[in-house]
Amino acid sequence: MPAKSFILLNWGIYMFSVVTASAFTDAELTVAVILLFIAVVVLVVIQVESIVKSIKNKNDAEKLAEVDLTTGIGNRVHLAREYEKIPAEIRHEYALICFHLDSEHVERAFGRTALINYIKNSITAIKEYASPDDSFARVIGAGLVALAHVDDENIRIGLIHILRKIRSDITNLDPLFTGTIAAGVYRLKDTDNDVHKSIFNAWQTAEMAADAGEDFLFCTDELVKQFDEERSLRTEIGRAFDNHEFVTYIQFCVDTPSARIVGGEALARWNHPEKGVLSPAKFIPFMERENIISRMDYYTLEEVCKFLEKVSTLGIKDFFISCNFSRKTYAEEDFVKKCEKIIQKYRFDRNMLVFEITESAEEKNTDIINQNSREIKELGIRILLDDFGEGFASFYDLHEYPIDGLKLDKALVDRYDTEKGNAILRGMTRMGHEMNLTVVVEGVESDEQVNELKNIKCDIIQGFRYHRPIPVSDAWNTLLGEVERERQVV
Ligand code: C2E
Ligand code: CA
Ligand code: CA
Repeated sequence: MPAKSFILLNWGIYMFSVVTASAFTDAELTVAVILLFIAVVVLVVIQVESIVKSIKNKNDAEKLAEVDLTTGIGNRVHLAREYEKIPAEIRHEYALICFHLDSEHVERAFGRTALINYIKNSITAIKEYASPDDSFARVIGAGLVALAHVDDENIRIGLIHILRKIRSDITNLDPLFTGTIAAGVYRLKDTDNDVHKSIFNAWQTAEMAADAGEDFLFCTDELVKQFDEERSLRTEIGRAFDNHEFVTYIQFCVDTPSARIVGGEALARWNHPEKGVLSPAKFIPFMERENIISRMDYYTLEEVCKFLEKVSTLGIKDFFISCNFSRKTYAEEDFVKKCEKIIQKYRFDRNMLVFEITESAEEKNTDIINQNSREIKELGIRILLDDFGEGFASFYDLHEYPIDGLKLDKALVDRYDTEKGNAILRGMTRMGHEMNLTVVVEGVESDEQVNELKNIKCDIIQGFRYHRPIPVSDAWNTLLGEVERERQVV
């Protein structure tokens, strides 16, 4: 368009100069001036039109940039704009509410179209209880988010109805729906000015509610502090993998009657450059929440395979190392394939490898975990049900999973000297044996406990009484020492 206007303008100037330079009559000159005037008007109209059009295009593009194309509601950009509009002095009157809808579960079970309908129905349910001035967005990584001008009491009332409605919609689609639907509320502070951080706080609170089986939770100052620490943890974890800061420790287990080492459990540690050696409690639960736990699990598995290959060269038989897997890792579609890919790189008898799986109160992903367990067993790997008897006994898991052994939790052995505690410990061991399972007892710290476990005839003991977890390189030296000692005895 500017090129066209430029030609027109040049043409007009040319005409004008030609006309004035020639000896034309007054009438001809007037016609020329009129023509020139028309040319200028046309030129101006074209210019204005093009400016208006470009402004409109810009507005359309800006509007489009604020829309979530799947649902038609706003996206993160939209929410950020609405957030910035709130005057700082009344920010505390607003809350950000995140909805954890377990969309992955719905998509996996019913496909993309059902998922979109589910999200749209959820938006309708939320809007029914919202005021017309509230803003909504679908934020990638944080689900549905509402920015509402509302007090806590009304949030509570609204959420009870909204969550009930969303749940009834999804159970109409799938009466056996086992996904988690929950919400997290973050009340803004007047000093808040980072929308992404506020969304993060609301989202983490929603995740926490989902994990705790609560309908909804309000974010507190302590939680904000914890989330801040976790934000820095996230960047640190990426670096830690790159810098090989995660290390595998081995805690040896012994045969109950002879106290000979018969195997061990691999336990992750973080060799943090400033904080020193960190125990799993400092990073495993976070990794589970962030869905990055499988990286840790596969990393430890590979370290264990390397170790077992080395152990095989010593000619040691009847030895095992067990690996912990989060149920989340265990439930991954490609779990068996990934494990196989790692294991096949190393030469050792597959019988030496044991996978530990923890029991769980929720019957979540049980079908896939069951299927994966069967395939894992086909590879020759043994399976141990970990933390058995911690809080509740999952007889479902006992019945369903193709396990080879039970690991009785520390809580059981701690109560060995009470009448009931002793009866439970004996009962569990007998039950394990009747099911042809190896019974391991963990957390054993004293001679008295060892004596009782000998009486009860539990098979294997793991605990500080005999061995503490040590770095895998030290574990290798311990094993070498054991082999040497046994040779001398022979
Ligand atoms: P767990 O699987 O139940 O592991 C046993 C825990 O009990 C270990 O804690 C071990 O150090 C501790 N323990 C063993 N014997 C005794 C004892 O006699 N007394 C006491 N007080 N404690 C004892 P740790 O190493 O802190 O690990 C904690 C949990 O972290 C593990 O519990 C396991 O669930 C998890 N974990 C460790 N490594 C990994 C990993 O690579 N992947 C996954 N998903 N989880 C891991
Ligand atoms: Ca374990
Ligand atoms: Ca355990």
